[in-house]
Amino acid sequence: MNEDGVFLGWLAAAFVLVVLALVAWFWSRQVRADSGLPDGEIIYSDHGAWVPQSEPLYSAHYQLVGRPDYLVLENDGAIVPVEVKSGIAPAEPHEGHVLQLATYCLLVEEIHQIRPEYGILQYRDKAFAVTYTKELEEDLLHLLTEMRNDMVEEELDRDHEDWGRCEHCGFQEICSQRLA
Ligand code: SF4
Repeated sequence: MNEDGVFLGWLAAAFVLVVLALVAWFWSRQVRADSGLPDGEIIYSDHGAWVPQSEPLYSAHYQLVGRPDYLVLENDGAIVPVEVKSGIAPAEPHEGHVLQLATYCLLVEEIHQIRPEYGILQYRDKAFAVTYTKELEEDLLHLLTEMRNDMVEEELDRDHEDWGRCEHCGFQEICSQRLA
C-alpha cells in the first residue's frame, strides 16, 4: 500500500471513531432524557449509571437510611432527589412514593445542609415534580415518630397481606416485614 492508501485508511478509521463517539453521545443524551433527570451534575447514583454507585444516604440524627435513584446538583447549587418507578404513572403520585421522596429530601438537607425545594418522581411515562414543603416534612417526621414508637412498644406484625400496599410504601427500605 502506498502512502496515499495508508493516509486514507487512517482517515477512514478516524471517521468511524468520530461517528461512534457521536452515536454514544446521542444515546447517553436520550437515556438521560428518558430518565427524567433535570440538567445538572449527577452526584449520587444508586445504579452506577453516569457516576459510580454511591453509598446509601445515612442520618444518625434521624436513624434513617435511604437510597434515592439519583441526586442531581443543579447549576444554582440546588440538589434534586430523583426516584424512578417502573410502573405507569397514576393520576397523582402515590402517597407512599411522595413520602419516600420526602425522606430523601430530609436526608439531603441533613447531610449536605442544603434543603431541596423539590424532588422528582419519574414513572415510566410521566414525571412529577413534588415540592418539599414544610407540611410534607412535618407529615414525614410525624410518621417516623409513630413508627419508632411502635417499634419501641413492641415488634409489630404486618397487619395485611397486600403486596401492592408494600410496593407503594415509602418505608420498604427500613421495613423488615415488607412483601415487595
Ligand atoms: S409492611 Fe412495611 S413495607 Fe409493607 S406497608 Fe407496612 S410498613 Fe410499608
